[in-house]
Amino acid sequence: RDLAATPEYTVAIVGSGPGGFYTAQKLLKDLPDVRIDVYEALPVPFGLIRFGVAPDHPEVKNVVHKFDALAQDPRLRLICNVRIDTDLTVDELRSSYDAVILAYGASADKELGVANERNMPNVLSARAFVGWYNALPEYKDLDPDLESSDTAVVIGQGNVALDVARVLLAPLEDLAKTDIAEHALEKLRGSKIRHVYLLGRRGPLQISFTAKELREMLVMPGLKLEIDPSVITNEVAAASDYPPNRARTRLMDLVLQAASATPSVPPTRTWSLLFNASPTELLSDPSDPSRLVGLRYEKTRLEGPPDAARAVPTGEFAVIPCGLLLRSIGYKSLPISGVPFDSKRNVVPNKKGKVLDDEGEPIPGLYASGWVKRGPVGVIATSMYDASETATSILSDIRCGDLGPGGESGTRGYAVMSQLLRERGVEPVLYEDWLAIDSAERKLGELRGKPREKLASLEEMLEVVRK
Ligand code: FAD
Repeated sequence: RDLAATPEYTVAIVGSGPGGFYTAQKLLKDLPDVRIDVYEALPVPFGLIRFGVAPDHPEVKNVVHKFDALAQDPRLRLICNVRIDTDLTVDELRSSYDAVILAYGASADKELGVANERNMPNVLSARAFVGWYNALPEYKDLDPDLESSDTAVVIGQGNVALDVARVLLAPLEDLAKTDIAEHALEKLRGSKIRHVYLLGRRGPLQISFTAKELREMLVMPGLKLEIDPSVITNEVAAASDYPPNRARTRLMDLVLQAASATPSVPPTRTWSLLFNASPTELLSDPSDPSRLVGLRYEKTRLEGPPDAARAVPTGEFAVIPCGLLLRSIGYKSLPISGVPFDSKRNVVPNKKGKVLDDEGEPIPGLYASGWVKRGPVGVIATSMYDASETATSILSDIRCGDLGPGGESGTRGYAVMSQLLRERGVEPVLYEDWLAIDSAERKLGELRGKPREKLASLEEMLEVVRK
């Protein structure tokens, strides 16, 4: 089938993060007569670019310029403030669009499995803490206690763990120039946190953060990495049968250099990497059981080669006193009605983006992209490659006649959905409405010397739209 001469195809995308927008980009490029509607649950677009990426990484957020350009293509309609599953169902989308692409990301997080972690105040997921400093409406009232203790523990040694450690330890004058939420900045002004531990169940050779993010910690004025260099050298020596690749060697060199560096100014804050430590118990103040005072962990040893090492408990325990604990051990996608879900891997089961039923057969017209497709790993660029794979699956289904145009878009797609939304009293926020929110946020930011001040509540966002 000649794609240049295709009749009109209607496509619904669920989620306006990189997974959704990059898939749209490829379809707009290769399918001339496509009509794409991108549905987003929040009144504002771009997913984790807005609510995940750290405020001091403005260059990473520049990718939204590309998405903005796509949103201005007359063949794409951005429809925010519509949650698929509750406002419209996947079945309703499927009955009115030729293809539905699930790109709804990962809106939950993995837990440690220690008693009380859900109820103990100041034991938080990195997802919540990140959402709080990035003005995600769900977490605007999180209000972490940063004053009762000088020590925070972050469980995890990936880039998100470094992001939260950096925000806790960064000079305020630097953070104040970013788009960090004002409520978070206010709270950080009164913070007493001076030391952050990053805890890993395995060793230095299994650290998953990258050199760029590590370097940002190492050049931060007044901050010192506290680590015994022999922890690194011994581990590297023990794994001498498995020479690390260049990236890992560079990472180990950076840690070693920082461990032995003498700071030019006396450090006011410190951080450390603690390895072979598996959290087992949250410790509370005996006179106030709701107050976290420490973490007990079990020491582990590693079994197996470095790239597949397993942490094995040793029966030896230790305690770190701390008043704030952030678990950064991974995000997790949730199931959505009418769609198969692999609850072991927490993804929508798929083959090259084609969603599979319980028998492993592709479900016609249903696709997945982004974190819900491959799991919550990888950077924005990873989502671009994998969105391209999903779009290619759609194009090939069209070419071989498995996916046909269901008719004029005027009688399908958003024409039908907008009627349902009206009946259900849902107020869609379209691209022009988002531009009004965007402009209001930039103006607020200008007053505070920031690139933007994000509106942190749904009501505030909708108020701007209704004006
Ligand atoms: P998301 O970006 O999460 O987008 C999913 C969208 O779907 C969201 O907007 C969500 O609101 C919406 N949605 C959810 N449910 C529904 C529903 N039912 N109906 C409609 N819409 C729905 N990558 C980098 O390259 N550089 C970085 O510096 C970086 N920093 C990061 C920091 C953090 C804290 C995190 C968590 C990730 C970071 N990443 C970074 C990774 C990057 O953000 C992800 O790779 C990428 O955002 C995944 O894209 P996605 O579209 O799958 O998910």
